[in-house]
Amino acid sequence: MQQIIYLDNNATTACAPEAVEAMVPFFASQCGNPSSMHQLGRQAHAAVTRARETIANELACDPTELLFTSGATEGNNQIFSSCACCGDKRRKLIVLSIEHKSVLAPAGRLSDAGFDIHQLRVDRNGIAILESLDELLDQNTLLVSVQAANNEIGTLQPIREISDRAHAAGAFIHCDATQLLGKHPIDVNNLGLDFASFSAHKLHGPKGVGVLFIRQGDPLRFISPLLRGGSQEGSLRAGTLNVTGIVGFAAACALAGRNFSSDIKRLTELRDRLEMTLLRSIPETVVNGAPSSRLPGTTNITIPGIPADTLIANTPNVCFSGGSACSDGTVSPSHVLLALGLSREEARCTVRFGVGRYNTAAEIDSACAQILTTIATLNRGPD
Ligand code: PMP
Repeated sequence: MQQIIYLDNNATTACAPEAVEAMVPFFASQCGNPSSMHQLGRQAHAAVTRARETIANELACDPTELLFTSGATEGNNQIFSSCACCGDKRRKLIVLSIEHKSVLAPAGRLSDAGFDIHQLRVDRNGIAILESLDELLDQNTLLVSVQAANNEIGTLQPIREISDRAHAAGAFIHCDATQLLGKHPIDVNNLGLDFASFSAHKLHGPKGVGVLFIRQGDPLRFISPLLRGGSQEGSLRAGTLNVTGIVGFAAACALAGRNFSSDIKRLTELRDRLEMTLLRSIPETVVNGAPSSRLPGTTNITIPGIPADTLIANTPNVCFSGGSACSDGTVSPSHVLLALGLSREEARCTVRFGVGRYNTAAEIDSACAQILTTIATLNRGPD
């Protein structure tokens, strides 16, 4: 049987062996609840404290500024539910038009609660148009939410410029930095953020665990709990902590931090190898997103005349994606690609590759060969 080549690392990643090793004891022998008083409880609590410190170190923040969550979807929802509860008179929210659905959906629901939701437009490369932000921002703006990097096209946003503008108008700034963590050093202070959402499974950590950065002071006072019950996480997020996941998240974070420069170089080289091979072989292909301001492993390619679902279905040993994995199963074209100005037909013929740490050059070559064979067969039509 032919080996499966996984090139969908923006959807999720394989857990790093180091993260798995760190987690194993916490599935069984280290079974304590960190809220328990006894020895195993105290050991679990200590493990969570160490993990919080490790992750805080990677984000350049204080450990007390981190709230463990079930992932970025929860972190994003937490921010928008707080808007409705914080009692502020400001009623305007600005979100980037190409945000993940876990931002767009909870933001959209707030129109029922009397908020005006404004979408910040992007240019042809997917970069926020700062002049539009200047026009939108005013004394009625409560929150600006802009992602650090897009999950489909990989475009990076000028977060510092955006947070400076938001603060000048007296608004809070939230950043969904899910795709950036592990692929780029992050300093939440340098970026000027009040809130930032992260998820472990995008950087070779386990699924179902994440963290929300909440700056001390006014941003902390803005937050009201999404989940109520026990007094975990300073009563901001009730529920027994996912100790195993948290330990794995910290191990993955530390590993990424140690390997940043080599990982970024390798991912960029492998991504460029894949991109160049496809571009040279099929001259009418187009790469979407900002060519230079982009996540290292991501490429998003339109292949005219070749629907993504047909290409994926006929290349069974290569895992890649059409649009965002989170939108898979829905028939509507990617809102990200439409926002860049692609037609529905172009969006339908667009695929995304996410190269990851464990991919090799041989895998990239084999994946390209398989994809090109499929395209040649599809172009030839039925015999
Ligand atoms: N935001 C972005 C940019 C993402 O790529 C994802 C995952 N597809 C999420 C949020 C949701 O993350 P999680 O799976 O941890 O809920």
